[in-house]
Amino acid sequence: MKQTLDFDIVVIGGGIVGLASAYQIADSHPDVRLAVLEKEDRLAAHQTGHNSDVIHSGLYYKPGSSKAKTCAQGRKELISFAKKYHIPYEICGKVIVATQESELGNLDYFFQNGLENNIEGIERIGSDEIKEIEPFCSGIAGIRVPCTGIIDYNQVAYKLAELIEKKGQTNKVLTSHEVTAFDKHDFYTNVVTNNGDFSTNYIINCAGLQSDRIARMDGINPGVRIVPFRGDYYELTEQAREKVKNLIYPVPDPDFPFLGVHFTRKIDGSVECGPNAVLSFKREGYGKTDFSLTDTWESLTYWGTWRLFMRHWRYGLGEYTRAFCKKLFLRQLQKLIPSLNSDDITPGVAGVRAQALGPKGQLIDDFKIERCGNSIHVLNAPSPAATASLAIGEYIKGIATEHFKL
Ligand SMILES: Cc1cc2nc3c(=O)[nH]c(=O)nc-3n(C[C@H](O)[C@H](O)[C@H](O)COP(=O)(O)OP(=O)(O)OC[C@H]3O[C@@H](n4cnc5c(N)ncnc54)[C@H](O)[C@@H]3O)c2cc1C
Repeated sequence: MKQTLDFDIVVIGGGIVGLASAYQIADSHPDVRLAVLEKEDRLAAHQTGHNSDVIHSGLYYKPGSSKAKTCAQGRKELISFAKKYHIPYEICGKVIVATQESELGNLDYFFQNGLENNIEGIERIGSDEIKEIEPFCSGIAGIRVPCTGIIDYNQVAYKLAELIEKKGQTNKVLTSHEVTAFDKHDFYTNVVTNNGDFSTNYIINCAGLQSDRIARMDGINPGVRIVPFRGDYYELTEQAREKVKNLIYPVPDPDFPFLGVHFTRKIDGSVECGPNAVLSFKREGYGKTDFSLTDTWESLTYWGTWRLFMRHWRYGLGEYTRAFCKKLFLRQLQKLIPSLNSDDITPGVAGVRAQALGPKGQLIDDFKIERCGNSIHVLNAPSPAATASLAIGEYIKGIATEHFKL
């Protein structure tokens, strides 16, 4: 390593994937000088701080896929990490509930997936058992997933940042540092930010909703475009919380990478319901009418977006109408909990997913992580990347160790 440079590796993005990657490298290579640069004034400001806070089991993902492998491994590592550093979490389990006959085929499909992925303790259950687990939930069949849990990913992110700085004296996790350009030289890169420049040998791009732009800034054609999908949540009022014991999910449509609106008890005792999935007109826009000309232009001038619209316009329209109409959102929730009424739910937070879209309109399902020269680019890290973050970090550390000759 050239000691004259500011850092050996600069990681872009202070979300859980960037932090977990830096942590894994710092843990194995304490002599490597690392910086994590985050553009916001706090860590976990986007996807990591706006998600359902669920520790996923790994049941949904195609056997053999990166998602399946890293979710199962990452879940276990995350739990050990939470135990070791006293981060509150709970393995409360969840139920996936079919409410009509037409969903039974997909329910079986996901159950088989779960068996192939060796998800511990999953059980196919009937309507009586659903009622025993979730007395207000009504369904005709379901899957009990005992190893699913809840955690606060913000707390995980901040603990990772603390450990990165502890493990190497020169390591830095810097907020309010937006990477705006790369000034490339023969043997190093100057990473230009709004708060000073940093010279480095290697770059790891974990910029979430901006990851395709960072890749292009690095002179790489990512082959995909990030299309933002907003997810709105409602919250159960305090009086209605008794209607949900833990986590209740519908049977998702295997053609989409979204899990459908679900009920999630959070670690603080509140209960969220959502999220839906609508194309957002702003990558980091959390309001229903937020708009960015650049982001919208980039989405709408991409063939992939139009091909996606043409293929799935009916699904998209349904999600849009539910986003703007509480009554329709409620109707969706009532499929799982029929006694829920309008007074039981109040508008909650929203999150925006960074979903990579291929030029043919294909929603990229699996994680997409690519190395190019002295850079590694995380180009698709949607759910369950928070659960899988430590395993993704391990994988990125492996690439860095081999190709960056750490
Ligand atoms: C609504 C929703 C619900 C979800 N639920 C779950 C769940 O229950 N369980 C689960 O496992 N996963 C869930 N996920 C997925 C999970 O949150 C994400 O996969 C994960 O947080 C991705 O982490 P990340 O670090 O890649 O991205 P992010 O958390 O978005 O971090 C990227 C960071 O890069 C920064 N950045 C961008 N550009 C620059 C720049 N130029 N310079 C410096 N910094 C930059 C951003 O500010 C941001 O902080 C959910 C996601 C959403 C949106």
